[in-house]
Amino acid sequence: MLRDGHIHTLYCPHGSNDSLKQYIERAIELGFSELTFTEHAPLPETFIDPAPARDSSMRKTDLEQYLKALESVKKQYASSLKINAGLEVDFISGFEEETTQFLAEYGSFLDDSILSVHFLPLNGQFVCIDFSEEEFGRITQEAGSIEFVYELYYDTVLQSIQADLGAFKPSRIGHITLVRKFQHMFHCTKSFDLHIERILQAVKRAGYSLDYNGAGFVKPLCRETYPPVHIARAAHSLGIPLIYGSDAHAAAGIGQGLEQIDRTLIEGSV
Ligand SMILES: [Zn+2]
Ligand SMILES: [Zn+2]
Repeated sequence: MLRDGHIHTLYCPHGSNDSLKQYIERAIELGFSELTFTEHAPLPETFIDPAPARDSSMRKTDLEQYLKALESVKKQYASSLKINAGLEVDFISGFEEETTQFLAEYGSFLDDSILSVHFLPLNGQFVCIDFSEEEFGRITQEAGSIEFVYELYYDTVLQSIQADLGAFKPSRIGHITLVRKFQHMFHCTKSFDLHIERILQAVKRAGYSLDYNGAGFVKPLCRETYPPVHIARAAHSLGIPLIYGSDAHAAAGIGQGLEQIDRTLIEGSV
């Protein structure tokens, strides 16, 4: 049984205009039997999107339409595969209350969601770490070092796992090594094994699962999954479920990175 637990849609302003149908039919072609659409949830209204293009998430006004469209394809494809409605919810340090309120309002409409960190608080402002290599370079300059950015990222991921976001908090943690997206341009020599170990222990304690994300493998400056396979194996040996995620932003992205995924670690497979 092959499952893709992390898929974006045409409701994402930095994605493609491919229809839900195109994603689903590509997934059927590749032999998937379960999918979760996890569009970037609308950001808190008081939060200003720090990505230079201000295109990080879906619009709040599209949310109802998104959920309706998912209801419709769920029924339409019920005999071919299981489709879950979800969101990729941002953990933003300091915005826990707004996020909790959002989840309380919409959580009951969601089957399966992801909690991810893309934004870090830096010098009194927020930055978006995965927007582009130029922006990542600017962030490392502002932070003073690459190591500092890594440390801040892993600390924020740990915080996201420990945060109380109410009854509808997503139980899967997104791409825990996203900070490595531009690693072949910005080399980090310090080891973060201890941070990773703490993150895995916290995931285990909380009973969460991990997004085992193939998108990094196709990014030319990353060339590895999030997390890389040795971390995925460490998570697996702790009993943490790993759910493959293509993180596709176009139908052609379904299945990306699967060739580098250790398939024996994916929950439900084999
Ligand atoms: Zn995205
Ligand atoms: Zn993400």
